[in-house]
Amino acid sequence: MPSIFTKIIQKKVPAHIIYEDESHIAFLDINPMEKWHVLVVPKKEYETIFDMTENEYIQLQKIVLKVAKHLEKTLNCGINIFQNNREIAWQDVMHVHFHVIPRREKKDFLNFEAWDTYSEGEWDEYREKLLLAS
Ligand code: 5GP
Repeated sequence: MPSIFTKIIQKKVPAHIIYEDESHIAFLDINPMEKWHVLVVPKKEYETIFDMTENEYIQLQKIVLKVAKHLEKTLNCGINIFQNNREIAWQDVMHVHFHVIPRREKKDFLNFEAWDTYSEGEWDEYREKLLLAS
């Protein structure tokens, strides 16, 4: 069964996509830790980084860096980057992804109640600024 991220890649499930190339996609997390929290995903459905070749991992990191720099420049923010492998390490979606999270105010990192939401029309307002050319 395809992962939810594969369905996003196949455009069967909608997402706010900010970047896409032949092998990668980056889109907004549906439940952001902070606004404009982005997930960077390889199109090949690897469960964890342990399944990836070194080269695939490096190529993915290049996109993570590109997205992080773009968010920093666009939002003038700090950035957290993290990635979970296996359920024991808090992985929820079993398709490799890196979290790239803008930080514009210092919050309790693990306080789920401090996570963010979007208001109506906010994506449309930021869309042009956030889109990243491949
Ligand atoms: P994990 O815990 O596996 O590292 O993170 C999975 C992330 O995927 C979570 O932050 C969650 O909010 C996000 N997520 C889960 N389902 C969807 C979805 O259908 N669309 C989007 N855009 N993000 C999702």
